[in-house]
Amino acid sequence: MAGLGLLNKQSLASFLADPAWKIKMLTDEVGIFTEKGGTIMFLLTSKGMVVVDSQFPDTAPHLIGELKKKNTKPFRYLINTHHHGDHTGGNIAFKGVAEHVVAHINSKANQLKVAAEQKTAANKFHVPDITFGAEGWNKKVGKERISAHYFGPGHTDGDSMIHFEHANIVHMGDLLFNRRHPFIDRTAGASIANWIIVLDKALSTFDAKTQFVCGHSGAGYDVVAQPNDLRAFGDYLGNLLKFTEGEIRLGKTKDEIIKAKEIPGSPEWKGDGIERPLAAAYAELAVK
Ligand SMILES: [Zn+2]
Ligand SMILES: [Zn+2]
Repeated sequence: MAGLGLLNKQSLASFLADPAWKIKMLTDEVGIFTEKGGTIMFLLTSKGMVVVDSQFPDTAPHLIGELKKKNTKPFRYLINTHHHGDHTGGNIAFKGVAEHVVAHINSKANQLKVAAEQKTAANKFHVPDITFGAEGWNKKVGKERISAHYFGPGHTDGDSMIHFEHANIVHMGDLLFNRRHPFIDRTAGASIANWIIVLDKALSTFDAKTQFVCGHSGAGYDVVAQPNDLRAFGDYLGNLLKFTEGEIRLGKTKDEIIKAKEIPGSPEWKGDGIERPLAAAYAELAVK
């Protein structure tokens, strides 16, 4: 590794000792953990801890270790926003640690389906024991009231938003990609058209002061977003459908359409991966 020779022993040691993960407190009780994969949100109270999403089997133990240093009460609930491996892979680290794992019923079904397809050994995954449907779910832990909202298919068919009402912070899971091209998982029932409605429902359910934690953000953009960021992402999804529909009407093929460099009207969405939402939009419009 070039340049390391210039570092003295002490700075090399501190460079290597720097943890790869970051914890940021948003309030006295609520914080986020980032290392690899989807952002994790957590709640620390005198009545116990709550964690939303779990990243991967190798990163979840880092989170658990850090939170145990901050709070000696048990992990009451691990909540999954949706089934993807960068949000539920670490569930296994919570087996025997979290009292309950909670998710929308479709998220649990998707977790089981993926585990069966990938022939994951039974001791390598850990699915929810509490599920909910369109009615959502809620629970009081300490002074915090936690509510899960389900507004139908978006990024998958099993995404819910987890609201810490007292702190007024919502974990959006992958329902919000802040200035980053989204993954749209049609194999798990995603719908771009309904995703736009889901974001509108979020804006009418929560308020102007709500903060939104998102799974992923683009370079230079925060994983903690504001209502205007939800509006901008809803506009992006609308522009994605409108652009793709126009290209189809002009007689362009799928291969030609996915070569676009930008979604007209949403230039803030930059970087790699534009072909994935374009292909998903093409597929969604083609089946109509
Ligand atoms: Zn994700
Ligand atoms: Zn996802």
